[in-house]
Amino acid sequence: MTHNDLSELEASLDGTLISRENPDFDEARRVWNGLIDRTPLAVVRCTSTDDVVAAVNYAREHSLAVAVRGGGHSVAGHGTVNDGLVIDLSAMNHVGVDHTALTASVGGGATWGEVDALTQESGLAVPGGVFSRTGIGGLALGGGYGWIRNRYGLSCASIVGAEVVTASGTVVTATEEHHPDLLWALRGGGGNLGVVTRFTFRLHEVGPEVYFLAVFHDGRFGETHRGLRAFRDFCATAPTSVSALAFVGQVARDAEGFIEGSEGWPFIAFAALHVGDLQDGEEILRPLLEFGHPLFDGSGFIPYVSAQQFFDTEYPDGARYYWKSLNVPELSDEVIDFVADAGAAPASELSTIDIWHVAGAAAEPVNGAFSASAASFLINPEANWVSTTDDEANIAWTRNLVTALNPYSDGSRYLNFAGFQEEGDDIMRASFRDHYIRLAEIKAHWDPTNLFHLNQNIQPRATS
Ligand code: FAD
Repeated sequence: MTHNDLSELEASLDGTLISRENPDFDEARRVWNGLIDRTPLAVVRCTSTDDVVAAVNYAREHSLAVAVRGGGHSVAGHGTVNDGLVIDLSAMNHVGVDHTALTASVGGGATWGEVDALTQESGLAVPGGVFSRTGIGGLALGGGYGWIRNRYGLSCASIVGAEVVTASGTVVTATEEHHPDLLWALRGGGGNLGVVTRFTFRLHEVGPEVYFLAVFHDGRFGETHRGLRAFRDFCATAPTSVSALAFVGQVARDAEGFIEGSEGWPFIAFAALHVGDLQDGEEILRPLLEFGHPLFDGSGFIPYVSAQQFFDTEYPDGARYYWKSLNVPELSDEVIDFVADAGAAPASELSTIDIWHVAGAAAEPVNGAFSASAASFLINPEANWVSTTDDEANIAWTRNLVTALNPYSDGSRYLNFAGFQEEGDDIMRASFRDHYIRLAEIKAHWDPTNLFHLNQNIQPRATS
């Protein structure tokens, strides 16, 4: 394929085509995870639905692999591809609010930070993630667990409409009235169905100020084990206005705001957001705040947008990441002891094991492809490191944890937190459960040749 071949596509675009010869190419090809280093043929930075149609048609007609990039934060690197075409939606980030319908219209390449900024002007929010720079595209299409999940559900459950460019290059609007099957599949089916150029999300009342808990306690002398037991007890009676997570790790050398001399100590951290009255939130979360000896405390009444950005600096662009996640029904003493010990001895001081409490609206069945697990906890081993020489040790740390924790899980995964290529189709079946066949049939209708396969892929299946 030569540069000239691409000029035909380039000429048809409102946006820009960044090919290998372009000085911006190296920057344009990069994604958040430094572990992923791929060289596409070109990055098409789309600015309109027509651009997306042109790029999809071009890729299909020239048999090029297609990577669709929203926010570029797929841990598995699904937003890029060697020798194929990247459809980069980052410039399609318009956000609008309909105050009558209580919905937000959001371009397919927007980030959660961009959505929060506008919706919070009216004290409204779409349930997003806990990091403001992830794309709404990948996160919402694949599920979406965030700080208001237990109160308002997963991001995918709030999708009420979508404009989609399908594999044939057709533009389709999916709503409950038109193409309801497609809408159903988009709620959890990831990037399998097409390129979503515009989402319509249901809005919910939040903030604009909230009580947010972010406290790291000293984990030495068995406190990590005791802390996870306290977290289990807290979750057993926590109201659904609270979405909480616990995580264990080590205080990193350059960690800011921690008490002096604590570098290298194990910690047990709690982070949570309460939707509703500020004082109620503070009172409800007091047991986790006052649990032990704080090394760092960032808790308080803060704007919801600040809570959404609280952990943004923890995951810098270009560092190396290998994450996985398991749905675990119960935090047994065995699970707690294992997580506490493994969290205190990671392969990298930047790594953590995170435990998300999933309850209330987040545990309810979604009217969509996402198959809510009956499990109450999501356990994520997150290996985060910097040097290429540490790749093997960190990847092994995460994999060993998954192997060890798997017997305690229900066998399903939250697919957005990692690529599970090595676990194959079985993990897709286990995670989509009884939605798998319907999703595969809808996939066959809209993408029979699996043009969109760089994602948590569902093989198209002819209707039985
Ligand atoms: P991309 O790399 O741009 O895309 C990933 C996938 O989504 C690709 O398969 C792509 O085809 C598809 N896709 C993206 N946009 C579109 C679109 N408009 N149309 C069609 N397909 C599209 N998940 C949570 O649930 N909660 C969290 O709190 C959370 N925190 C995270 C924090 C960090 C630092 C990171 C890296 C990830 C986090 N995740 C979280 C996981 C996150 O949901 C996934 O990594 C997600 O894929 C990111 O979406 P993206 O658009 O940025 O990714």
